[in-house]
Amino acid sequence: MHYTNTGAPQPYGEGEKQALLNGLLNGSIKTLEPTYDPNTGYHYPAAEALVGDAAKVQSILNKLTEEEVLEAKLFDKVIYCPNCGSASISFRYCCPFCKSFNIKKSSLIEHVRCGYMDLEENFQKDNKLICPKCREELQREDVDYRKAGMWCACNDCGKSFDIPVPEHYCTRCHTTSNFEQATIKDVFTYTLSKKAKEKLSSNMYLVAPLQELLSREGFKVETPAYLTGKSGAKHNFNLAAHKKNPDKLVVVDMAMSDAGEVAEQPVIALFAKTFDVSPSQAFLLAVPKLSDNAKKLAELYNIQAIEASSQEQATAALKQKIK
Ligand SMILES: [Zn+2]
Ligand SMILES: [Zn+2]
Ligand SMILES: [Zn+2]
Repeated sequence: MHYTNTGAPQPYGEGEKQALLNGLLNGSIKTLEPTYDPNTGYHYPAAEALVGDAAKVQSILNKLTEEEVLEAKLFDKVIYCPNCGSASISFRYCCPFCKSFNIKKSSLIEHVRCGYMDLEENFQKDNKLICPKCREELQREDVDYRKAGMWCACNDCGKSFDIPVPEHYCTRCHTTSNFEQATIKDVFTYTLSKKAKEKLSSNMYLVAPLQELLSREGFKVETPAYLTGKSGAKHNFNLAAHKKNPDKLVVVDMAMSDAGEVAEQPVIALFAKTFDVSPSQAFLLAVPKLSDNAKKLAELYNIQAIEASSQEQATAALKQKIK
């Protein structure tokens, strides 16, 4: 039995957080929307597929929202049973005197002509509405008669009232609860925040771990980097790393595609820059992958492609290729 929404936040690993984030970064999830399950309430199947463990999703989403990577927008509020945590709650209207839900709801009708007011059922006769006082047939609502609100009667204690009191009934454990006792949780949709999108445009999320890796390998890393070429022109790379003894210059550009494949353009752009700057190695980090034509072109231009859809993949591939 897992009621993930009300359960304690589950610890998660950085890899799991990254997997979810990558789904949003590479565009496979544009807006993370919840799906309703009658037992557990709302959950996020798309995120669960990426993380692999449904119980951890909410903690990760909370953390990413706290870090202002994600923007949460209120989607719904869910009522949970305070006893068993189920979201399988039905709503009852009860008698304010004896709390019974066995109440009868009726409309009040006022016969405008004679001023008589009574329950609708007392006007009903042979599929017609007949005034019990003056015996006239009611013709048109809001002309000769009007609805004058609701009136309830309790079938248990016999009292009448106009406003019933609400109560929640758990269809799982049969516990009733009121507004005060119920656990009510906000449910959100999530999208990348403006801040995250800005960071993304400088490709920080995937470049940052590469920067760390290269620093560990003894490189001096700049990101973004502006290097002057033989022509005297300055070129911008997402990352450049220098090392002395032996003298080595590594440049990395990153390209992402919403369409699923990065096309030739970033390869051509990187080639033009490396032609002028002459690094020892040039990498194109393609998220999630390069198209076949782009791959062929990269090979021709001596650009090493790193295809990755996660930080782990990117760093592992770079680590291997840099040696
Ligand atoms: Zn319950
Ligand atoms: Zn009652
Ligand atoms: Zn009447």
